[in-house]
Amino acid sequence: MDLKSRIRDLPDFPKPGILFRDITTLLADPEALRYTIDTLSERCAPFQPDYIVGIESRGFMFGVPLAHQLNVGFAPVRKPGKLPAAVHRAEYALEYGTDTLELHQDAFRPGSRVVIVDDLIATGGTAAATVQLVQQTGCEVVGFGFVVELTFLEGQKQLPTDVPVISLVQY
Ligand code: AMP
Repeated sequence: MDLKSRIRDLPDFPKPGILFRDITTLLADPEALRYTIDTLSERCAPFQPDYIVGIESRGFMFGVPLAHQLNVGFAPVRKPGKLPAAVHRAEYALEYGTDTLELHQDAFRPGSRVVIVDDLIATGGTAAATVQLVQQTGCEVVGFGFVVELTFLEGQKQLPTDVPVISLVQY
């Protein structure tokens, strides 16, 4: 299936010079949505995860149905102050300043295998911070699943070299 035709391109959002790849049009298309989840599921199953971790907030939209399909658990990685129980915290650099992500300390059973999911990898900073969070729980990151990869930003360079990365659409 041609997923690119289901993703809407919006120039200069959220700021001038950024070409935003909008996946809401993919989510609204039942065939494209089913194909996306089925394909992510087929390609992530060999990683044999115990959990999917989804990154706020578009990572939730793909991560939960993927976890359902793979019959594994799900944990959300959230912006600061949203998770109610004790959290691990990871800071990462933005173009200007820093941002922080949080994960519940008891998100996973000890020794679990975790696959990290987001809608899109750009510079890789968000996914790399999520790796730090999973590692703080003592669990292992065994794969990454993205719907979209902006290959020209070389985000995979921020990720552990020995962990497989899948993406369904590349720009
Ligand atoms: P990064 O940390 O640079 O890999 O950025 C990844 C996060 O930013 C993801 O959660 C994406 O949803 C969002 N993002 C970054 N660039 C874009 C883009 N061009 N279009 C849509 N979302 C983007």
